[in-house]
Amino acid sequence: KTAGRGQFAVFGKEMDTMLQQRRTLERELREALSSDTQIQVYYQPLYSARNAKITGVEALLRWRHPQHGWIAPDVFIPIAEDAGMIEALGERVLRQACLDSMSWPIETVAVNVSVVELRNPAYAMKVAKILLSIGMDPTRLELEVTESALTDSAGHCEHNIKALRALGITIALDDFGTGFSSLGRLQQLAVDRIKIDRCFVQGFGRSTNDEAIVRAIIDLAHAKGLRTTAEGVETTEQSDYLRGIGCDDLQGFLLSRPAPVKDIERLLRGSASH
Ligand code: C2E
Ligand code: CA
Ligand code: CA
Ligand code: CA
Repeated sequence: KTAGRGQFAVFGKEMDTMLQQRRTLERELREALSSDTQIQVYYQPLYSARNAKITGVEALLRWRHPQHGWIAPDVFIPIAEDAGMIEALGERVLRQACLDSMSWPIETVAVNVSVVELRNPAYAMKVAKILLSIGMDPTRLELEVTESALTDSAGHCEHNIKALRALGITIALDDFGTGFSSLGRLQQLAVDRIKIDRCFVQGFGRSTNDEAIVRAIIDLAHAKGLRTTAEGVETTEQSDYLRGIGCDDLQGFLLSRPAPVKDIERLLRGSASH
């Protein structure tokens, strides 16, 4: 009995420190947002599977914490979503990505959008205003949304996606295959690109099923006129297979890791001279 109570006390104490750490991180993220050095945008190129040219880049947020060093977006994005900071963060990365990539010889710059941002009925208008203020061609912007945006019952996400596409912005469905949509749902999706989640690519050679799934996704996407990207390409075997089955673009550590502006610009200069 005492042991039980003891355990509970320990558990309670752990919860306490967890909550405290969380509150601290939240406060520090708020501070980071108002500093201009802690939050940075890195870019990871997407390569054409056909000719190995860079077709676009994906903007990925980075937070360099003054004491803890790099904190992963998988950690701070959910905090930003819960604490009402995702809109400011989203606006920050969108502006930065458009400005950085303005003169890059690529088709599109892709920016990740949280479903929390997409649920705001004014989101598409906000994006339109930002592009206008920067002088960015909307057809050069791609927004990456997850499947959860397509099952939002209030319909705000769907409305935003329609409005964004009407402006000429393309929409990519991120992490495809990990959510609840079935292959059948691909038929009704009003998106331009499917990004096949890296868990399928990394299952190649281990589970024959993953190869069949990816082939089916690509065939169906192409039948619907959608472009396909494979994420998380780490080996030449994976990239060869994907090229063989007609995947349009490849992204992954094998080709290039996410990198800061100066590295990407060097890479783009190199690939332009080939
Ligand atoms: P994501 O959109 O699926 O981004 C791809 C993630 O996979 C990135 O992680 C990237 O660094 C990683 N990656 C790329 N190639 C490979 C590979 O070959 N192998 C492996 N193992 N990983 C690879 P990162 O940068 O840590 O971002 C994690 C997630 O955080 C993103 O997943 C996205 O959901 C979210 N995120 C990042 N930036 C933003 C942003 O600006 N806004 C929003 N809302 N979410 C963001
Ligand atoms: Ca993404
Ligand atoms: Ca993804
Ligand atoms: Ca993700």
